[in-house]
Amino acid sequence: MTKPSPGEEQEGGAAEASGASERERDARRELLALCTETKRLARAEKEVAKVEFLIDGPDLWIAAVSSYNVVLDLKASRLQHGCRDFQGEVRERRLCKHVAGLLLAIDEAVAVRVLERIVDPAGDWHLEAMVARGFGKS
Ligand SMILES: [Zn+2]
Repeated sequence: MTKPSPGEEQEGGAAEASGASERERDARRELLALCTETKRLARAEKEVAKVEFLIDGPDLWIAAVSSYNVVLDLKASRLQHGCRDFQGEVRERRLCKHVAGLLLAIDEAVAVRVLERIVDPAGDWHLEAMVARGFGKS
């Protein structure tokens, strides 16, 4: 009487290589949530596809997001943008959907670095409202 040996193809080991598990921890979005509202962040996700880069890094980004310019200058620690929403939010160091959209569009490590300094009350990052019309198409 011999037992039938079960198929042993499913031995453990390779399971974790599947990468099926979603990454819940997204440092960039966690930081963005600190400086914008959930609804606005959801709108920012839709702006990502509309970002047009005039200069795309590595330490200066000039982009049009829905026809509003966003200038992100790492060397000067400065972010300039001019939509109405941003002009109101900038005093609170909060971000509009365009800026959040740009930060979602660029390299994640850079965005995290910028956001960490924006959310830091002692941070030296400059948020500046500007009124120039963007170069992008609306
Ligand atoms: Zn804006």
